[in-house]
Amino acid sequence: MSLNICEQCLSKKTAITCSSCSKYTCKKCVQFVDEYSFEFIEYLPASLQDKGFCSVCYDEHVDQELSHYQNLMELAKNINVYKKEQSAETRLMRREKKPIKVEDCNDRQSTLMRLAFLAAQQGYETIVDVELNPKKIKQGGRYKKIVWNGSAVPIDSKKQKNKKARA
Ligand SMILES: [Zn+2]
Ligand SMILES: [Zn+2]
Repeated sequence: MSLNICEQCLSKKTAITCSSCSKYTCKKCVQFVDEYSFEFIEYLPASLQDKGFCSVCYDEHVDQELSHYQNLMELAKNINVYKKEQSAETRLMRREKKPIKVEDCNDRQSTLMRLAFLAAQQGYETIVDVELNPKKIKQGGRYKKIVWNGSAVPIDSKKQKNKKARA
């Protein structure tokens, strides 16, 4: 492992490079994106997940990208959710988009969160026909693991309201 002078503080020697500009940045100057900086790290693109950045790149774009995902998480947490069983309530809502599907999630809650996140990312505030299904998968020998699959249809609720107002 070769050590190089940190290009930011110009004093410490380091083997760490910035994941964006590849410049040498020392332990003190590097800013990591980990579960402490972002609660739902698994939702971040691979280019951000568990990566270290020099403070120039961090201030220039990483910080902004993180707040973009932070906003999406907030939208996802507040999304309107209607389960498949609630079809009586949602039967008048027009399904214009194909269902969003997620597979192999750890549990029920994260399956729903992932569906909500994908819908929020596409600009939707409501998901209907939500189905969350556990699936047993064999993992060698007699051991079985349960994974969750989910699907939901994103609905443009603004369009629905307009339609109601006109009716
Ligand atoms: Zn430094
Ligand atoms: Zn950089």
